[in-house]
Amino acid sequence: MEKLPIKKPNFIVLTLTPLLAVIFVPWYGLTVGFDAFEWGVFAFFMVATGLAITAGYHRLWSHRAYEAHWSLRLWHAVWGACAMQNSILHWCADHRQHHRFVDDNDRDPYSAPKGFFHSHMGWIIRKQNIYTDDFANVKDLQRDPVVLWQNKYYLALTVGTNVAVPLAIGWWHGAMWGTFLLAGLLRLVLNHHFTFFINSLAHMWGRQTYTDANTARDNGLIALLTYGEGYHNYHHLFQWDYRNGVRWWQFDPTKWVIRLCAWVGLATQLRQPPVVQIEKARLSMQLKLALQQLEHAPEPDAWRTRLEEAHRQFLAAIEEFNRFRQELRLAKEQFQEQFSRDRQEMKRRYAELKAELRHQRHAWRLLLAELSGTELTRA
Ligand SMILES: [Zn+2]
Ligand SMILES: [Zn+2]
Repeated sequence: MEKLPIKKPNFIVLTLTPLLAVIFVPWYGLTVGFDAFEWGVFAFFMVATGLAITAGYHRLWSHRAYEAHWSLRLWHAVWGACAMQNSILHWCADHRQHHRFVDDNDRDPYSAPKGFFHSHMGWIIRKQNIYTDDFANVKDLQRDPVVLWQNKYYLALTVGTNVAVPLAIGWWHGAMWGTFLLAGLLRLVLNHHFTFFINSLAHMWGRQTYTDANTARDNGLIALLTYGEGYHNYHHLFQWDYRNGVRWWQFDPTKWVIRLCAWVGLATQLRQPPVVQIEKARLSMQLKLALQQLEHAPEPDAWRTRLEEAHRQFLAAIEEFNRFRQELRLAKEQFQEQFSRDRQEMKRRYAELKAELRHQRHAWRLLLAELSGTELTRA
């Protein structure tokens, strides 16, 4: 197959930055040293850029898994530029194409079957003729002024946040180069490769918990490095869920941050599929794997019947349980609504009766006063 031409700026950034980091970070660390403040700035930059990609670029803009206030969008747009992974518009166009044509070597921009290097970073270095950059699949994002603004000033934003901001903070702190090396350079390289792992490793290494229709895998270890995006098998089946680690104990800081944003009012309309759908997918994968094991079992037909029957009953129990839970929730809502309506009515009646009481008391006193007046006159 004929190789496509190399994209020089991307090639230079992706080869030069790791090289410089590998040389200068240890050298500076050994000769001058980094202090706690510099590591603190590094940690802040790490988390801010990481979450801008996962909570912003990925779950908010690519998948519309929730709605965000403009201030939160602006925050993710600025730190997303700092992650140097292209503008929101480009990133989301690629990503939506990836989901739509996953594993299709001719149409998935980072198709995993093409190998680790290609899906990790090769696809960024070489030009691709997969589609033209007409942004046809991100028309909705072109209505977001924050997205358009970031696209327009992307270069200035990315250079400013990667070079000027760390240098300025470092200058103020009195260690300009140390701060730049950690928060600018090392952070950039780590953030790049942690993100790239989602396209490479998370399509090769881990469990196919929910579907085997594509190469995506669930991997808790990758989730540790990627703010929760390691649960990639689930994500490929329920891509618009604001969670990737769907079970409460799965390490998915991005989902916790989105929930926190919702709690303070910055995020709304968090989307998630019904529990039954998720459980159904998980169970049918388990049944499939169990049936595959039957080849080596002593009585495969008897086993098959038992497995299928147990699966059917389990599924029915899940459905029944969830139906009842839904009913319960509805009843509770209705009860609360009715209760609050009744309470309003009772409050109104109470006020009415109280006013009537006051009125009658007044009338009674007037009458008594009138009577005593009459008696006085008579006397
Ligand atoms: Zn993927
Ligand atoms: Zn995705």
